[in-house]
Formats: sequence, structure tokens, C-alpha cells
Amino acid sequence: MFDRETAVVIGLGKSGLAAAKALRANGARVIATDEKPREALSGAIAASENAGARFVSAGMLADALAGVTLAVLSPGVPPKSAVLQIVRDAKIPVVGEIELAYRLCAGPIIAVTGTKGKSTTTALICHMLRACGRDVRVGGNIGDPLIEQVAGAGPHTWCVAEVSSFQLETIVQFRPRISVVLNVAPDHLDRYRSMEEYTAAKFRIFENQANGDTAIINLDDPLLGALVPRLERRGLAIRGYRVRDVEALIGRAGIPLAGEHNVRNVAAALLAAAAAGCGLERAREATRSFTALPHRLQEVAQIDGILYVDDSKATNPQATIAALSSYERPIVLIAGGRAKGTDFRELGAAIRARAKALIVIGESAPVLAGLAGNIPGESASSMEDALARARRYAHSGDVVLLSPACASFDMFGSAEERGERFARAVRSLQETVHAQ
Ligand code: ADP
Repeated sequence: MFDRETAVVIGLGKSGLAAAKALRANGARVIATDEKPREALSGAIAASENAGARFVSAGMLADALAGVTLAVLSPGVPPKSAVLQIVRDAKIPVVGEIELAYRLCAGPIIAVTGTKGKSTTTALICHMLRACGRDVRVGGNIGDPLIEQVAGAGPHTWCVAEVSSFQLETIVQFRPRISVVLNVAPDHLDRYRSMEEYTAAKFRIFENQANGDTAIINLDDPLLGALVPRLERRGLAIRGYRVRDVEALIGRAGIPLAGEHNVRNVAAALLAAAAAGCGLERAREATRSFTALPHRLQEVAQIDGILYVDDSKATNPQATIAALSSYERPIVLIAGGRAKGTDFRELGAAIRARAKALIVIGESAPVLAGLAGNIPGESASSMEDALARARRYAHSGDVVLLSPACASFDMFGSAEERGERFARAVRSLQETVHAQ
């Protein structure tokens, strides 16, 4: 497919390496580059060379671009990156990994985007389609890079892709058979100049969809509801959903996940599965056996009647607001981390309405503490310290909820690591209690 092309892959993360491999497998010559210094990349350079790519450092890149016809940008590379600028200056068309995956994918694609709920909904769709006997691949932000997953897909394989707004920035022909947009809330305002710019990036998911394709849209989100007439004019089949319809369709008891936001996620997934030809009864049945993904309102343990919940993936205020409204029980909230330029006012109101105590951690600790009003609270220096403090406020029947509303990078390598630290601290607490 890329027989006569030379491509440059920018960014040597997991996705970049997968792109290099796929391009090689499809006949292209491949150059790999990354702006990190060579010393920080030794493993990645070896891996890219194993994949058949030639590594070129940032300083040598401009001279190596003669004859290069395509650039593939990894999702983690910032838009202002120097290597990207060099490639743009050379007037080489830049596409993302997701675009490349689309071009190489033989089967139909279901693409899921939104500010929050992408991974959960993507996993739900896969779970339902598999229950309906379909051959399914899943990739994108979730699990393996999409490009790796689509490699072996046949014409009847459904490829379910979780796509972020960053990835949608670099699409050209990407045309999902079914698109799912869950919600648009303020997030990543450190990367986008305005909410309009961020929203525009998310809506690019519809850009190449046409007659015969389906768009699944959360009608409870006013920004999304307003899109419907425009999409209908393009001949798309629109499947809108509202929480109240879903409750009628499956019943709260049929959804083994906490929170109304998860009712929405299930609704979106049911509609996607139905649009892919899966019977509603099968899909509904599958919902009942779905379990929460790690670090998304995941129940870690119940100790002395107190439920400990790891929601470390709540990296923006909206996710934490959703978490706070997911429990009827009193909540001791652990929150804080690296703020992303978002507004915390609405979160403050939710905390004051729903939390019985607030333990703050990380860089945003002072700001979050300022939101607590009359709610008692403390500042903690580590996750272990936060858990110990939270426990002092919690009684039987309460929830201790880690739902940070912020990114993790001030104290941890990732949101996963933050959640693991919490879960580990909870388990050691459990052992101490059992030993008594
Ligand atoms: P994403 O992949 O978009 O980050 P996840 O499914 O991984 O979404 O969930 C991340 C966090 O957002 C979790 O804390 C989860 O409870 C919360 N969340 C999931 N779905 C929604 C939703 N529809 N609205 C608000 N928050 C949500």
C-alpha cells in the first residue's frame, strides 16, 4: 500500500513504534524521530531499528527529509514540538496514527470520543459485540495502539477505537462507520486556546462520515444536541440517547456500574452495538456481566463497613462531580494533583453538597482546600497519608473515594500508578485490620 513511499514517524512511544512496524509491513521505507535526547531513547531507538526504521535525531532531521512523502504523528507529541515544526516546514503531510490505522483497516470502525467515559464505553461496546459473536479488535487510547490491532482485521472484523481530541486533530480521511460522542466538558484547556477550539477538535469525528454511517449522540449534552440537524442533512443516521430513555430500556438494576454517567455510557454502547447489527437482548445481557475498568469507580475493598473506591482516572472536575453523585452514602473525598487550567467552581459546589470530609493532595491542594467551605478537611503529603487521614473521618456505611479531579504527574508517573498506590494502601490497611 505504501510501496513507493518514505514515511517519517514522529515520536517513539508505543503508538509510534506500532506505526513504524505497520508502515514497514506495507512496503514503506521508514525514518523514526523524537525530540528527546538520544540517551533517553536508547530502548526506543533499538525497537524502531528492529521494526526496520532508521532513527534520525532532531538535529539531523531537516537534512533527512528529502523524498519523504508522509509523516505520522504520535498522539503524545505536543503541537508546538520542534521536530514537528521541522516536518511541517518541509511541507510533508502529517497524519496521526489513527488516520494511518483507518487507511490500513479492512473492517468497519466504531470510533468513541468525548471528554469522559471513552474507555468505559469502548470496553462496553467490545464486550457486547463479542457476546453477539462478532470478531472484534479494540485500540486507540485504550490498551494497544489501534494500528497494531487493525493489522489482522478482515472485512467482517469490527474495530472499536477510542479516540481523543488530540488524535482527531490529525485525521484526513478517517471515516468511522459508527461514531459515538459522549460529552464535551472543559478539559485540556492547557492545550487548547478555548473551549470552541477543543469542541471543534472533538467534532472532527463526523467530518468524513456520510450517507449510510451512524452518529450516536448524547442528547442530554446541549452542545451535542445542537449538532443533530447539521448531521441529518449530511445523510447520517442519528441515534440520540437520554438517560431517562435508557433507564426504561435496561433498568438501573441491569447496570453493574455506579453512577448516572455510567447509565449514559451503557446507553451509548447499546446503540453502537445495535447499529453494528447486534441484537438488543444479547447486548443487554452482556451489560450485566461487565465489570468496571481499573481506576474508574473501581471498588477496592470494604473494611469495617467502609467502602474504598479507586477513581484515579477522574482527571478533570467533571469526572469527580460524576463520582460524587454516584453514591448515596456519605463520602470522604481524596482529591488533588496537577490542575489543567480548568475551573473548579462547579466542583466546589458538588464537594460542599456531597462530601462529609475532604483530604487534599498535590499541587492543587491549597486551591481545592479553599473550595471546602464548612466541610472538614486536611492536607496530606502522600497517598498513604491521605488514606490514613481519610479513614479517621469515615464511619461504617461511608465511602472513601479517591477521585482527584486533576492529572497525576505532580506526584505520580500516571493516573494508573496513583490508583495502584491507593489500592495498595487500602489492602495493607485491610491486612492490619484482619490481623487485629
Ligand atoms: P476516558 O477514557 O474518557 O478518560 P474513562 O471511562 O476512562 O473515560 O473514565 C474516566 C473517569 O471519568 C472515571 O473517573 C469515570 O468514572 C469518569 N466518567 C466516565 N464516564 C463519564 C461520563 N459520561 N461523564 C463524566 N464522567 C465520566
